[in-house]
Amino acid sequence: MGISSDREVNIPELLFYGLFSLQHRGQESAGLAYHRQGRIKSYRSVGMVANALSHYLSDEHPSRVGIGHVRYSTQGTNKLENAQPIVVSCSKGEIALAHNGNISNSTELQKKLVDEGSIFQSTSDTELLLHLVARSRQPTFREALIECLGVIEGAYCFLLVHDEKLYAVRDPHGFRPLVMGTREGQVLIASETCALEMFEARDIREIEPGEMVIVQGTRVTSERLPLPSPPHKAHCIFELIYFARPDSTVYARSVHMARKKMGEMLARADRVKADIVIAVPDSGNSAALGYSAASGIPLEQGLTRNHYMGRTFIQPTAAMRESGVRMKLHPVREAIAGKRVIVVDDSLVRGTTSRQIVRLLREAGAREVHLRLSSPPLRDPCYYGIDIPTREELISNHLDPVGIAKEIDADSVRFLSLDDLLRCVETPEHFCHACFSGRYPVAVRDAPAGRKE
Ligand code: SF4
Repeated sequence: MGISSDREVNIPELLFYGLFSLQHRGQESAGLAYHRQGRIKSYRSVGMVANALSHYLSDEHPSRVGIGHVRYSTQGTNKLENAQPIVVSCSKGEIALAHNGNISNSTELQKKLVDEGSIFQSTSDTELLLHLVARSRQPTFREALIECLGVIEGAYCFLLVHDEKLYAVRDPHGFRPLVMGTREGQVLIASETCALEMFEARDIREIEPGEMVIVQGTRVTSERLPLPSPPHKAHCIFELIYFARPDSTVYARSVHMARKKMGEMLARADRVKADIVIAVPDSGNSAALGYSAASGIPLEQGLTRNHYMGRTFIQPTAAMRESGVRMKLHPVREAIAGKRVIVVDDSLVRGTTSRQIVRLLREAGAREVHLRLSSPPLRDPCYYGIDIPTREELISNHLDPVGIAKEIDADSVRFLSLDDLLRCVETPEHFCHACFSGRYPVAVRDAPAGRKE
């Protein structure tokens, strides 16, 4: 989240609210950086926004520009030194940086810099950009940034603060969403529209793939990154399936409506007989609604979610995931007992969560449990910013749907086909679906550190 204002306001407080709306995108750490009296001040902490940054609600920090970040790690461990924004003081002055995505040639670039004497403070790929900018011989920060973006590959939405200006850059493929809006005296930039709508922002638009926006006060300038040939768009389809909030508009599409359509497509290809459809809340809600509407099987509230827990998919250790499911989900016995249940979830990763959900439903008296996934089988890792585990850990690389059903003790398992998934978006050629198809839109030069491939 980034905010630029034409007068001094309490930027950290505004960032707090914006980040609170984006909490679903990362729960490991939260941080913010803002310009004040000629310097960049920053604070980062592990944990969720409400705990990590609540002190900013009671103090005044007059400022014109700032950025904030919530992190979930795809590269680098869940440690404070990897929290963002990263702030450095270098040859180009003070810079604050927040990154959403994954630099897919980071190992190669980082090795070169380390060989030449650079010292990295963190193990995340984000710091790389700052090293490159600091070493650039270009005369201005803007020119140095453009030069360095020319050597970085993969998925990135960068927000930077430099010299009381807010910079926003989206990679040329547009892997991750980035949107901009305005309100009285302010320009707001965020990963998702839900954070802008909370501020009742107007004139909301996407920052285009390959676009760099520079904001000073409310004055916005935009330019295209100079690229030899414009690459094709490769929006992450997993944002629509799982990651984004359903009330957001991502890649100019309603996330809720896209998920509902995925559920409808799933139902159309299905012949199973059942009494009720239930969702695995919350990411399965929209697809379950679509499944129910298309199949005519009534939708029930079969599972209740404790909203004070995190999202199990994005908590980094197996131990946390295992204990998390029962704390997070609880069956509504009266709705389930004696019923043939279709349970709709967004995706199947390792199968551990699904096995526990099936067990919960059987313990609550379900007569049959049919698991339906509103995405195809996950078979390949993501190198562009979503933490999908190794091929070895993905259950669909070992078992077909019949084998998976046996493994998780379901009566049947069925996935949305890749063709049907792509029918849910109007321009399928503009999407990345590598984790389902293995077709990577940007060559993967190096697997991120820590991956066991
Ligand atoms: Fe998204 Fe999957 Fe592509 Fe990663 S590989 S960007 S998760 S669609």
